[in-house]
Amino acid sequence: MGPRPRSPFRRATPWLVPSLLAVSVAAALTVVPGTEADDGRSAPTAAALAEPGEVRGKDGTAGSPGRPVPRPDARDVVLAVHGGAGSALDPATTPPERAQAYRDGLANALRAGKKALDDGGTSLDAVAAAVRVLEDDPLFNAGKGAVFNADAEHELDASIMRGADLAAGAVAGVRSLRNPIDGARLVMEKSKHVLLSGEGADDFGARHGLATVTQDYYWTQARWDALLRAKEAERGGTSAARAPEALADARSTGTVGAVAVDRRRDLAAATSTGGLTNKLPGRVGDSPVIGAGTYAKNGTVAASATGAGEVFIRGAATATIANLMEFKGLGVAPAAYEVVVERLPRLGGQGGVIALAPNGDFDAPHSSPGMLHGYLTRDGRLVTKIYPQESPANS
Ligand code: ASP
Repeated sequence: MGPRPRSPFRRATPWLVPSLLAVSVAAALTVVPGTEADDGRSAPTAAALAEPGEVRGKDGTAGSPGRPVPRPDARDVVLAVHGGAGSALDPATTPPERAQAYRDGLANALRAGKKALDDGGTSLDAVAAAVRVLEDDPLFNAGKGAVFNADAEHELDASIMRGADLAAGAVAGVRSLRNPIDGARLVMEKSKHVLLSGEGADDFGARHGLATVTQDYYWTQARWDALLRAKEAERGGTSAARAPEALADARSTGTVGAVAVDRRRDLAAATSTGGLTNKLPGRVGDSPVIGAGTYAKNGTVAASATGAGEVFIRGAATATIANLMEFKGLGVAPAAYEVVVERLPRLGGQGGVIALAPNGDFDAPHSSPGMLHGYLTRDGRLVTKIYPQESPANS
């Protein structure tokens, strides 16, 4: 049984689902090597798509007659991480070592978060621990490995939020904190503010003993090359054919995030990024903006976003998911799908979210062709997904 043909439109075209069902069923039964464990829901997912589903919404959005309601990607999830949305990795051309490195990075983050939970920590401890590991991994666009701005410098954004009391903290445009997520948590716990930016944020972190680094710490060859390609594309490139490829590459940014629920059913979410390659100095994306890149509210959702930050800010992406759940009664999967796949593309931006409900229902919809993510279930199963073929269609 071969893998499902790759289509960048899989998750953005629910009306195609019935006609693609036969293909989906075939592919859903394929276990892609490299995952630590099959999540065990491939077949149920395909079966769920065959059901008419419950009907919701007056405006033709997720769940309207004739379209299946998006179902959770997984259930009984306690922790999930993402490593950014962008162009899709292709199993045929991705070197196995690189694929393994992505899976290891996601799995290491999940393990760090699991340890925090196992040690009796809160969901906030778990998301902070998971994001810190991803910030330290040079493969991802956060902390070490952050992208370059247009001045060939690094400016990093991060935020964290606790669902129990809506406490939140964020840093934007930091240039010397080794782990911006620690800065975000510090703002939340040790200041009366929510968002500190630039030098003030760096100084606040340093004064409270956070590890600081010089700019060269964040450097990686891959991000440097991406900046050069972006500059070349900006100048018109060497040929028209190469420019779109270079731009697409620059947008595959590898922002990281985590969501968790703990034993008390308290939710938490965190996000960290270097932003977009070749961004204007001073530009702040959605990642440190509460309600855009990160949101957690008990009883609804913990969500972390990745993608075209400006659109996620304008669409109040993660807060809207929570609001759709709270005020419209949507489940986590239809709410996340409606925002990410239906609403935000209309504003002109692609990306994805990881979204976790207090009961463990989890979904990771994305309108971009790919999104690296993984999750850990209550019974300890750890799943990583780096290829679009590993995610069920329309969930
Ligand atoms: N959302 C991030 C930003 O706009 C980038 C990304 O997630 O790829 O800064």
